[in-house]
Amino acid sequence: MSLAEFTLIDRIRARTVERDDIVLGIGDDAALLQPRPNEQLVVTADTLNSGVHFPAETPAFDIGWKTLAVNLSDLAAMGARPAWCTLALSLPEASEDWIEAFADGFFALADQHDIALIGGDTTRGPLSLSVTAMGQVSRGQALRRDRAQIGDDIWVSGTLGDAAGALRLWQQGALNVTAATLLADYETLRLRLLRPTPRVTLGLRLRAFAHAAVDISDGLLADLGHIAARSGVRAEVDADALPMSAALRELLGRDAARECALHGGDDYELCFTAAADQRDALHFVAESLDLPITRIGRIMEGQGVHTEGHDGPSGYEHFAG
Ligand code: ADP
Ligand code: MG
Repeated sequence: MSLAEFTLIDRIRARTVERDDIVLGIGDDAALLQPRPNEQLVVTADTLNSGVHFPAETPAFDIGWKTLAVNLSDLAAMGARPAWCTLALSLPEASEDWIEAFADGFFALADQHDIALIGGDTTRGPLSLSVTAMGQVSRGQALRRDRAQIGDDIWVSGTLGDAAGALRLWQQGALNVTAATLLADYETLRLRLLRPTPRVTLGLRLRAFAHAAVDISDGLLADLGHIAARSGVRAEVDADALPMSAALRELLGRDAARECALHGGDDYELCFTAAADQRDALHFVAESLDLPITRIGRIMEGQGVHTEGHDGPSGYEHFAG
């Protein structure tokens, strides 16, 4: 380990929250953790590579935020309470300013969820960020993909397609995704792409009501396809019911907006199924969190994901393995 790496790790260590379930954090060969009795560990990992998962010119703050956000979103989809994470950093050079800004973004989100950074690895190489996030859930309470039941409603949180809309505008040269803009609709979409909000609290509340859940990272149809495949059921989606932001509809128009909502990834909303008699309870939860949820379809016997809209059945059938 070089001297530069040492100061870098020291800087990172100074930023993280303390938790009383950490016996040893950053600084030894490995971290030593004390999980709560009767809780199950929930563990997930996600890597972001420059130029693949974010434009190379993305500000360090946003990279820090999103690196953690995508992992917290996986914990949210499991109904887990975040606890600890590790961070593997591959950096082309150890720029102090870059690290500080990255840490600002990373810890802004980490502190919101009381998740502690307990270790990691630092290497020289192409810019790549890899987080392993750990959470806890009471025995048997986790939200899984394979528990959807015939007759369930299908729900999604928030709005869909915003992140994909921002990417489209960027590819068309209409939006610089790496710099703030004063145009409100553009800025709304840009922030949805760069600073997704993991739905951690919703995931925790859903443990009491939902049968199955997944976070939307690859697009609604693809991710709902995982629930259908794992649960051995058919998912029917009403394309006219998809929640879309005014910004998305305004900037892309109806058809492209719907396309983004159905297929676009990177929204990090939750898609979940629940029995029809839970509707009132779910609306109550959504209201108390100030986070809209929308019923977009039903679970039936069969397989695959099928969409219908006012143009009639789309004929689109998505089968995910
Ligand atoms: P080792 O060589 O034994 O794996 P290192 O010298 O790589 O240990 O790391 C020293 C300590 O710093 C360890 O506790 C490790 O988890 C932590 N660490 C290294 N890189 C990071 C990082 N990017 N973020 C957080 N902790 C880190
Ligand atoms: Mg060691």
